[in-house]
Amino acid sequence: MSGPEHPQRRPAILTVDDDPAVSRAVARDLRRHYGERYRIVRAESGADALDTLKELKLRGETVAVFVADYRMPHMSGIEFLEKAMDVFPYAKRVLLTAYADTHAAIDAINVVDLDHYLLKPWDPPEEKLYPVIDGLLEEWRAVGDRGMPYTKVIGHRYSERSWQVRQFLARNEYSFRSVNADDPKGKQLLDAAGLDGSRLPVVITEKGDCLVEPTDVELAELLGLSTSPQLEMYDLAVIGGGPAGLAAAVYGASEGLKTVLIEKATTGGQAGRSSKIENYLGFPTGVSGAELTTSARRQAERFGAEVITTQEAGKLEINGVGAAHSIRLNEEDTVGARAIILATGVDYRQLEIAGCWEDPDNPANNYIGRGVYYGASVSDNSECAGEDVYIVGGANSAGQAAMYMSETAKSVTMVIRGPSLEAGMSQYLVDRVTKTPNIKIRTCTQVVDTGATDGHLSEIVLLDKQTGQRETVRCDRMCCFIGATPRTEWLEEAGIARDDHGFILSGPDLQNVVGWTLDRPPHHLETSVPGVFVAGDVRSESAKRVAAAVGEGSMAVMLVHRYLAEA
Ligand SMILES: Cc1cc2nc3c(=O)[nH]c(=O)nc-3n(C[C@H](O)[C@H](O)[C@H](O)COP(=O)(O)OP(=O)(O)OC[C@H]3O[C@@H](n4cnc5c(N)ncnc54)[C@H](O)[C@@H]3O)c2cc1C
Repeated sequence: MSGPEHPQRRPAILTVDDDPAVSRAVARDLRRHYGERYRIVRAESGADALDTLKELKLRGETVAVFVADYRMPHMSGIEFLEKAMDVFPYAKRVLLTAYADTHAAIDAINVVDLDHYLLKPWDPPEEKLYPVIDGLLEEWRAVGDRGMPYTKVIGHRYSERSWQVRQFLARNEYSFRSVNADDPKGKQLLDAAGLDGSRLPVVITEKGDCLVEPTDVELAELLGLSTSPQLEMYDLAVIGGGPAGLAAAVYGASEGLKTVLIEKATTGGQAGRSSKIENYLGFPTGVSGAELTTSARRQAERFGAEVITTQEAGKLEINGVGAAHSIRLNEEDTVGARAIILATGVDYRQLEIAGCWEDPDNPANNYIGRGVYYGASVSDNSECAGEDVYIVGGANSAGQAAMYMSETAKSVTMVIRGPSLEAGMSQYLVDRVTKTPNIKIRTCTQVVDTGATDGHLSEIVLLDKQTGQRETVRCDRMCCFIGATPRTEWLEEAGIARDDHGFILSGPDLQNVVGWTLDRPPHHLETSVPGVFVAGDVRSESAKRVAAAVGEGSMAVMLVHRYLAEA
């Protein structure tokens, strides 16, 4: 994943001594010899040193060596090293002792797994200090932990919210590392943040700030994205931040319209979930959906479009031809616009079998995000390393996901109802999928039941439609790509005409629809409400392709100009 650069910071050598003169002297000698490659950090008490360690941990930095004085009043060097080991277990441990304390130092070898005790004074350092530290650093470099100078998401592998948070960050091309809360590294990070792990996920930013169970709005703010409108009135409001909406925002803003784009989740739409789009013009080796759409968002913003994420348009109030329409976002925010482009795309259809769909009467009773996934594959394919993955569906999106996951998964099985892949997938993908050794294809097959272990999916039941035989197979992850439906019910009240499947009618398709009130016919992408246009997958009979959505988003802006000139 690309994203902002995070230069690897220098590992630290931390010294702690309550005698300021000794503390300065150790730090000075260490800095002289190691200052270029290591950061020398000095503390004058065990408690201070521990606070510093926690800060370093949260910021994703690492410590190579501790040098602690044995005799300190409130916390001895041994006590300090014992606690420090919990935070940086790989750091090498050196105890600084006077001759009289040699016995205590020898005992400490067992208590804190001491690597060395160093007698004071250590002059000349070339003979007594540097050879010791050189040896320890060499050992540390061979096995020591690497810093994680990235934002960390600490959560559980099978937690829906942890998965959603990772998706949100990945789809915005934000660099992060995922850490399991049960792993030692996860526990250390939580300890360092003073958290007991009862509320997950936790996001620890590069600067060391902690977000516990963050909402999408908090995540958007972390990423510097706008979450509420700056103005009350715009020339153009675009609803939906997939390729169609992003294209409309780029063209609207670049052509001088005061433009706002409203997105309920994060920009990118379905395209943002694609691991690799290979048929979009201008990218001969393909482009990840997140990269394409994050660049488009930046492009729209550069032209002055306001892009608001994590806000769902929930109601449209139509105020007559020429007048501004209102879009209700939430209890507080309403946005007015002289023209509107609906680019709300489609949402994934869910498998209607136990554990796989959101039953409104029992919303928690499913494994979605805990082994069952819709539309999204994985934010990073290392997530499915060693797993047995099943992909349900046979369209291009399913093929892309299979290819991406097969790089790390133990096995990937595509389950399709039809007799062959060719019926639903582009030939270039069929060729790749069939040549990949760890991808299996099961045609004429359907998933008919699921089973779980500890609350997450662990098996599925397959039905061979030709023989009628059922087979229960182990399944760590099932990703479903079984078609999509528009979510346009909220537009009914505003009188936006839709076809029998909920897709929005426009232009010539409105011929037989009652309700059009103007003398002129509707413009090509204009809906049954003058001044409200539609673009992309949500339009009835649209092509369901990135390029088509981008083309329609751009073209809708041209028609908006025409409408505004007439109004
Ligand atoms: C995994 C995958 C891989 C694909 N690969 C390819 C490919 O390789 N080539 C290709 O050409 N096509 C591909 N497609 C199809 C392509 O992505 C879609 O055709 C395209 O994204 C449609 O764009 P859109 O803007 O019309 O809608 P969408 O991409 O569906 O975007 C709609 C957006 O509107 C938002 N929204 C919905 N309702 C509201 C609301 N009320 N308020 C605010 N926001 C709302 C949604 O959150 C969403 O972000 C793929 C699709 C998927 C899922």
